[in-house]
Parts: sequence; C-alpha cells; structure tokens
Amino acid sequence: MDSEPSTPSTVSTSSRVNDCDISRYRTATELVHLDNGESGVRDNYNSSSTPIYQTATFKQNSATEVGDFDYTRSGNPTRSVLESHLAKIMSAKRAFAVSSGMSAFDVIARLTHHLDLTNPAILYSYLHPTRTRLVLLETPTNPLIKICDIPTITSIVHERCPNALIVVDNTMMSPYLQKPLRLGADITYHSGTKYLSGHHDLMAGVIGVKDEMVAEKIYSTINATGCGLSPFDSWLLLRGIKTLAIRMDKQQANAQQIAEFLEYHGFKVNFPGLKSHPQYDLHFKMSRGPGAVLSFLTGDTELSERIVESTKLWAISVSFGCVNSLISMPCRMSHASIPAAVRAERGIPEDLIRLCVGIEDVNDLIEDLYQALVNSGVMKYPNGNEMVQFETNTNY
Ligand SMILES: *Cc1c(COP(=O)(O)O)cnc(C)c1O
Repeated sequence: MDSEPSTPSTVSTSSRVNDCDISRYRTATELVHLDNGESGVRDNYNSSSTPIYQTATFKQNSATEVGDFDYTRSGNPTRSVLESHLAKIMSAKRAFAVSSGMSAFDVIARLTHHLDLTNPAILYSYLHPTRTRLVLLETPTNPLIKICDIPTITSIVHERCPNALIVVDNTMMSPYLQKPLRLGADITYHSGTKYLSGHHDLMAGVIGVKDEMVAEKIYSTINATGCGLSPFDSWLLLRGIKTLAIRMDKQQANAQQIAEFLEYHGFKVNFPGLKSHPQYDLHFKMSRGPGAVLSFLTGDTELSERIVESTKLWAISVSFGCVNSLISMPCRMSHASIPAAVRAERGIPEDLIRLCVGIEDVNDLIEDLYQALVNSGVMKYPNGNEMVQFETNTNY
C-alpha cells in the first residue's frame, strides 16, 4: 500500500473536497504536509502552524453576502484545514471532524438502522436485500485482535444488498496503516482520541466518506446537532496527525518485540504481527503493519490482576493510541459495562490482558513486564532472583 492517491481541489465552507484518484506522496509524507492554500483557508501571514480561529461567528460584508464561514457549528477555518487534511490521508471524497469517536458513530448510525457484524461466516443469514441498510465492522477487533476480511465482506454485502453501506471502524489501524475506503468500504471512521491525536489530550471523532450524497447527509446531521470539533481541538488534532507515521512505526516495532517476548515465554498472544496469528496473511493483504495493540492470556483472572498491578512503567488505563504504554484487563475495565454473559458469548476471556504499546525504549517495557510476571509468580528469572537486563532485542 505504498503509492498513495489524493488530491485537493476546491473547498466548501466546512470540509474539503478531494479528487481521490491522483497519486501524490506517500502517507508518511502527506501526514506532515499541510497545504493551507488548497484547504481554501488563506492565512495572510504564512504561519507555519494553522491558526486557531477561536470564534463562534464570522462577520458578513453585507446582509446578503455570506462569506466562506458564518457560524462555527456549520464550519470553522481551523476545522476545515483539519477536515481537508483528513480527506487526503484517508483517501476520502470528504472528511468530517466531530467531538468524539462515539459521536462519529452516532452521526453515521443516524443514516439508518445498523447491524453489528464481525464474523463473515454468518453474514449470509443476517443480510436482507432491502432491510439491511448498514453493515458495521472493525478490524482488527478490540480486544481479541481478530481480523475481518473487508474486501470480501463489502463484495458480499454490495451484491446482496445494493443499498447497504459498509462502515469500517478503523481506529485500531489509523489511516497510516489501513485505508478501508480503498478496500471497498463506503464510510470509515476513527476515534481521533486514539492514534490520530496520539497524546490523550483531546477527544475527537473523524469520518471519511466516499459518496458525495452520503457526505451531504452526514454534514447535515453534524450541522444540525452541533457536534463538529471545536477550533482548539481541531488545531491539537492537526498537530498530532503530523507525527502519526513516526509514532506508529515506533509503537508497532515495540509491540512486535513484546508480542514475541510473551509468545517465547509460552503465553497465548493475540497480535497480527505474529506468524502464529490465524489471519496473519489476511491482515497483511489489507494493512501495512500490525498496529500496536495486543492481548494475551494467563489462564487465571487473579493472576492477570496481579500482573497488571505489578507493572510500574505500564499505566493501568483504558483507551489506546497514546505515546506512553498502557496495560488493562478489558473485562474489568473498558468492556466491564458489557454484561458478563454477553462477554462470554463473544468469547472475551476474563483473564485477558491488553497491552497498548507506546514509544518508550522497548527494553524498559520488556524488563518491566518481566519483573511483573516474576513478582506475580508466573515466571522466574533464569538466574534466580537476579533481574534480567535487556541490552539487545534478542535475549528473551
Ligand atoms: C475509543 C473507540 C471508540 C470511541 O471513541 P471515543 O473517542 O472514545 O468516543 C470507537 N471505536 C473504537 C475502536 C475505539 O477504540
């Protein structure tokens, strides 16, 4: 997925319109380069960082002449630059920035009813030629890191249900690693709170749309409900996106080594970067990397709790995508609001530990994990009580 289409054309008041078919630069380059002129927002002072237009209203020249912007709920120059940038990196016709990932989902769900789907094998029994209007999927799934076949699912659904929209939650991968709109999806969205921002200092949701008519409906909902991202958060998100590639490269390289470390020591590890992942090939047909979220099993819920609580460097926290490393027990934390019976039905084991790997030195991350495994009684150091120092990447 190395050659990257994209190109800019004109601007509407609230979002950029792009021609998706012309190749320009690779994603890692595009992430960094903002073309303020192309976004339609002209900055007379050539500022290197996009100005924050901290204003709710814009003055008109006359009673009848409406400028590019009138009211920030409908459009704001800082948000427009962000949306134009997002459309480019998501290969979308248009992109939107809203106040959180859940509000992105809410905006999309208002298009119609939805069917939640992660297993393509059962797809046929759920599809109805006219009543199925929207198919939502996520790949890799959180927290079990299963892979859905986006091209196969989209072709089955589009064939059976010509009016249905395929929506892909791409939060786990980010537009740097995977572009669902190029794999057949109609809409893709991300929690911008995660990798796009990268620092857990804002909440945002972003939506990329292929079809102009669908984009108009999405825009109408955002305009009517007022959930468009605020100027300051738009500015913060723009800043975060510039370092997405370098953060993700480092985070997934660290995650790869940590996954190999855990697998080497006999744990069942869910991570698409491991050859042992049953859908390794499928994942790499769609994505250029494994991402930086993995999960593993210990076989004992209380043991998992002890491991999580014995780590020092890994923060016990929900969410992911931040530059620092996080550890959690999904069944006790992020997924605790799902009833235990439903969790069991979906096969989420109570002892599952999720690791969201950051940009720290991987040797420190592995040493901390190692001491947590030793202190919780699941492993011993090879030399008795002597702590293991990791000078290289190979002395597991
Ligand atoms: C966090 C998350 C969301 C929700 O996003 P918020 O910004 O927290 O509202 C949706 N999908 C996935 C995969 C997420 O990780």
